Formats: sequence, structure tokens, C-alpha cells
Amino acid sequence: MKCAVHTDRDAVAACSSCGRFVCPECKVSIGGRQYCNTCLQTRLKTGAWPGQPAATSNNSGMGPNTPVPAEIRGWNWGGFLLTWVWGIGNNVWISLIALGSLIPWIGWVIGLVMGIILGIRGNEWAWQRKKWESIEHFQKIQRTWLWWGVSLLVAQVIFALALLVLGVALYKIGNSLGIDKNLPGNMIPWL
Ligand SMILES: [Zn+2]
Ligand SMILES: [Zn+2]
Repeated sequence: MKCAVHTDRDAVAACSSCGRFVCPECKVSIGGRQYCNTCLQTRLKTGAWPGQPAATSNNSGMGPNTPVPAEIRGWNWGGFLLTWVWGIGNNVWISLIALGSLIPWIGWVIGLVMGIILGIRGNEWAWQRKKWESIEHFQKIQRTWLWWGVSLLVAQVIFALALLVLGVALYKIGNSLGIDKNLPGNMIPWL
């Protein structure tokens, strides 16, 4: 077997990428595998070995404007439900605008709008701004965020119901003690 480039020299290996035979001069050893010089040049230019599927399926964490794999698109429940908390965990800092929901009276509008924006764009932004091991890894972590979001929502509903029950109970106790109904402050001790 002769080298594909130097036809007068004996080959010592086959390139792991293109399969051509290489002589000691043409041979490149990387990570225990043998390659030819041509393939190494291509690898350095394009980031992928010729003859192999391009290693571009995971382009996460490469910043805004990088194309996002089709599997990543779709509604992000974690971003919608947890807004800025989710944003901190996913390097999506624009989500901090949702902290505006702390503003009295109009704040909830800011929170809701930001939640919807994060629901729509969240997956895309999180993929572009944070390095993920794989698409599967990304989806697994986002499912975890979904469960945290739902759990928090359920906890809030339970808390609100508990407050309501407590309020009604205190109202009845207040009534039975003959406390003036026109003074609601009397019914709830901490008011
Ligand atoms: Zn090669
Ligand atoms: Zn050669």
C-alpha cells in the first residue's frame, strides 16, 4: 500500500476521516487516531472532519444571531412561569425586566408581557446564550424548569386559598365575639 500523496512511499496508516493511505510524513495523530494532512486542514478551516457529519448540531452558547436547531424551538413554560428567576438560570438577562412586576398597580402587566415574550423566545435565547451539552440536555433541564414553574404556581394557589380560609375563619370569630363589622382591621389582628 502506497501513500495517496507520495505514491512512491509506503503507507503506514489509513486516514480515519477520508480513508486514504498516508505515509509517515502525511500522517497526523490526534487523540489516538490517524488522519491525513488534507483532512486536518479542512478540520481547522471548517471545524469538522470531512466525511463525518458536521459537529455543528450543538452550537449552543455561541451568542445571539446563531441559528437554533429546530428541536429547540417552541413554547418555554419555565420562562413564562418563572420569568427573571428562569432568566438568571439560563443567562437570559433581558428577563430581569420582569422584576418590573414589583411596581405597584401596573407591574403585573410588565410581568405578564415579559412572561409571554420569554414563553415565545425563551428556548431560542437560552440556547444561544448558554452552553448546553446537547439538545437532549437542554430539553431535560427545561422540563425541570417547567416543573418548578408549575410547582410554584400550585404552591401560590394553595397559599392564596389558605389565606382565604383563614380570612373567613377570622371574620366568623370576629362576628361571634361581636367585633364591629365596619372595622375590618379588627378582624385581622395584624392589620
Ligand atoms: Zn484524510
Ligand atoms: Zn505521504
